[in-house]
Amino acid sequence: MTTVELRSVRKTFGDFVALHGLDLNMTDGEFVSFLGPSGCGKTTALRIVAGFELPDGGSVLLDGADIENAPPNKRDMGMVFQDYSLFPNMTAIENVAFGLRVRGQSASQMKETSGKMIEMVGLKGKEGNYPHQMSGGQQQRVALARALAIQPKVLLLDEPLSALDAKVRVSLRNEIRVIQQELAISTIFVTHDQEEALTISDRIAVLSQGQLEQFGTPEEIYRHPATPFVAAFVGESNIFHGTIAGTDDAPSVRIGSVEMPVQQAAGRTSGERVRVLTRPESTYLHVTSDGDRKGIPATVVSQQFQGARTRILTHLDHVEDPGAVILTDVTGGGHDHLSGGVQVDVTFDPATALVASAEELESATVAQ
Ligand code: ATP
Repeated sequence: MTTVELRSVRKTFGDFVALHGLDLNMTDGEFVSFLGPSGCGKTTALRIVAGFELPDGGSVLLDGADIENAPPNKRDMGMVFQDYSLFPNMTAIENVAFGLRVRGQSASQMKETSGKMIEMVGLKGKEGNYPHQMSGGQQQRVALARALAIQPKVLLLDEPLSALDAKVRVSLRNEIRVIQQELAISTIFVTHDQEEALTISDRIAVLSQGQLEQFGTPEEIYRHPATPFVAAFVGESNIFHGTIAGTDDAPSVRIGSVEMPVQQAAGRTSGERVRVLTRPESTYLHVTSDGDRKGIPATVVSQQFQGARTRILTHLDHVEDPGAVILTDVTGGGHDHLSGGVQVDVTFDPATALVASAEELESATVAQ
């Protein structure tokens, strides 16, 4: 049973605030990703958990106990870095055994544990290879085996896949997840790659400029982004320009001449200029029939067949931002009735549409 908690963790470097009081609570065996753009503070947060950096304020708790005074090697954590960091003069199995030797295990125990670890990461037969005789993916497997050999309470992964090519990255990330679930080990995974985080995590902590934007499951983060930053950073979003209309009980946004219902306009005043962000698969097209308008008038520009789905690009007619391209994803092929030049009405799912002010959206985009 291992829980990790960050309470109001604050970190400054000189005048620069890298973390503004981070609160996070990880449950036992959970796989949590720290996701955000370069410089958002995710590595700093991980290094504070590992004990390589000390916070200026707040605390880190392991199983409920403050570990402020524990040095990194007493925290029971295994770490994997972006650049493998293997000992070049040691073979794969010697690298894996290193932590066990430091902990005073006997030669036979070391051999057994490291052999098991090498097998678990799929490197049986490569025990005697030196790092320079292995590919990047193989070296990172050794690093993973080395981190796990000491049976840590927590596994810390600092962008472990970013030095690998695309194919190896995908296969190794799947293997990491399988091993993590088999061992049920609480894991923190730092990445700037949203697809990676969505695929591999139980929950994702999205960070921007040293602050937590949202902490939730991949589905919550994708379907219900809490802030414009999350909507813009994770996945793709359409942006509609409009003004707040409707009533508190039935809020809507006027886009061009059409009022579209929304659910998240609390606290905004009538007439306020806003942006509505929607996901391509929650944005819908209806072929216009005479006199029966269903949504925002638009014209289909083109289609992109993408295998399991087709992406349809439209231009909105008669609105404040006429150049905007709206993306709609529909499943499968056979959407010939939505070819270039066809007049359509655009609607979106009010439950998942995010309403933001122009300023909020602009600062979110700058932060990326
Ligand atoms: P990246 O993916 O680029 O590593 P990150 O989100 O992991 O980004 P951090 O490495 O945590 O970001 O850095 C957060 C901010 O703190 C950055 O602006 C960085 O320049 C700054 N920073 C980190 N370490 C130090 C340090 N030792 N001294 C001064 N500034 C630092």
